[in-house]
Amino acid sequence: MDTAKLLSQVDLFGHLKPETFAAVLRAAQRRDLVTGEILFREGERGEFLFVVAEGALDAFTHRAESGAARSEGAHSSPTPSTRAAQPPGEGHEDACLLRRLGVGDVGGLTSIILKQPRSATLVAACPSVLLVLAERAVEQLLEEHPDFSRSLIAVLSAKVRGKTRALTSLIRPMDRGLFRVAFYDTKAYDQASFQAALGDDVHIDWLSPRLDERTVELAAGHHAVCAFVNDDLSRATLVRLKQLGVGLVALRCAGFNNVDLPAAAECGITVLRVPAYSPEAVAEHAVALLLTLSRKTHRAYNRVHEGNFSLVGLVGNDLHGRTAGLIGLGQIGKRCAAILRGFGMRVLAYDSAPDRAFAAEQRVELVDLETLVRASDVISLHAPLLPSTRHLIDAERVGQMKQGVTLINTSRGGLVDTRALLEGLKSGQVGAAGLDVYEEESEYFFEDHSSTVISDDLLARLLTFNNVLITSHQGFLTHDALNAIASTTLSNIRRFASGQAPDLLPNRVVAP
Ligand code: NAD
Repeated sequence: MDTAKLLSQVDLFGHLKPETFAAVLRAAQRRDLVTGEILFREGERGEFLFVVAEGALDAFTHRAESGAARSEGAHSSPTPSTRAAQPPGEGHEDACLLRRLGVGDVGGLTSIILKQPRSATLVAACPSVLLVLAERAVEQLLEEHPDFSRSLIAVLSAKVRGKTRALTSLIRPMDRGLFRVAFYDTKAYDQASFQAALGDDVHIDWLSPRLDERTVELAAGHHAVCAFVNDDLSRATLVRLKQLGVGLVALRCAGFNNVDLPAAAECGITVLRVPAYSPEAVAEHAVALLLTLSRKTHRAYNRVHEGNFSLVGLVGNDLHGRTAGLIGLGQIGKRCAAILRGFGMRVLAYDSAPDRAFAAEQRVELVDLETLVRASDVISLHAPLLPSTRHLIDAERVGQMKQGVTLINTSRGGLVDTRALLEGLKSGQVGAAGLDVYEEESEYFFEDHSSTVISDDLLARLLTFNNVLITSHQGFLTHDALNAIASTTLSNIRRFASGQAPDLLPNRVVAP
């Protein structure tokens, strides 16, 4: 018997850290049973849990109401290969067979953790071998190995959710076909827009935490997770999602740089996104940042509130006649181009796969990156964050910029090397910066940190400049965009739930 192989295939142990798994292996003891041997009796106190390594065990109960007894094993064996064991002992002819535990099934979990009496009598249906973990060994694993605790919570919560689902479906027959989604990083505005578009076929559990390796267990019992820009879908999270039986990551955003796509493919997890919800919302926000900085309305607003009606220091620039450079001319870049053309600006664009027809129609000049950077009075970023675009704006690019340039970033923080930007601001090379995104935003954005100090020195330094305007990734935040996000995300989820082949799903994201 290959104990390690067997245990690695059991949910409770299969994804433990190597050192924890080794501790389990050390603690596991073999126990042999002959046919008809009773492992324990219903009502006895449980002092160990076990995994069936060979053979099979039958669970009997004397209770007429047998539902409660089903908790003794985590799974029931698919196809018994032996005849059911005889009811245990004399005077037990009324015992009723609940189910059979086969190879890989775990028993005794509820009993040992909740310190409850055994809910069934277990009898060997044939010569059988068990791997047994004594109560003390389990307690020691819980004390010394946090990943074992997390795994146990996941297995127990999956059981609880299963029972809750069974109860709910008794009450509401409609719930049986529900597709369950764990919605991470829920904000009131998300809930409002999704509730409005939710039907009877999808059930959402609203979760406050962001999705990461520590919070992934909350996805147990769900078919899908719904994630946003700062949820962490790295390999470890995805592997755990697969183990929990989650088959879909439904992103409620366009960007997917937070998802390890090769790992998702290996795990067989489908990733769907919302490619476009309201490009206008983000483009208009970029322009709002630009207008505010160019006319200094953020400073004027503060001044007049304090009774200061002086205009000194508020001299701005016309946008009309100046040159804007757009890096990325996709959905958002195009909307931005159209607005800026409307202001009477000359618009340059750099895109790795430009829409030449659009550029010609809008009289947008397609140029290379260096030409754009050198010629623009305003530079606005609308390219995705990819390994190739990380720190696209670095010290060298900042050095090529026009003196006093305005830099707008509503795309992703990682496009800009913040240290290089800070140097540019200090030297005056960069005259103003409007940032809706920031490299390390996941630490701060979307949350209220007003009662604590900011420990991120770069962010704190940026906030000291009166020519830097930072918003907390709110470019998408309009009613129109939120409604569109909810509608597309739910339609993605429904398509997946209906069993459409993942390859044919329109908003699927795959590794390049
Ligand atoms: P899009 O895919 O329609 O457009 C991206 C464009 O960038 C494409 O035309 C593509 O060819 C181009 N591109 C790709 N790699 C490039 C490179 N190396 N150099 C130059 N151009 C390159 O995406 P979109 O809907 O316009 O969104 C743009 C970005 O805006 C998204 O990636 C996302 O990160 C960001 N975004 C931010 C918010 C917000 O709330 N602030 C909301 C939505 C999207």
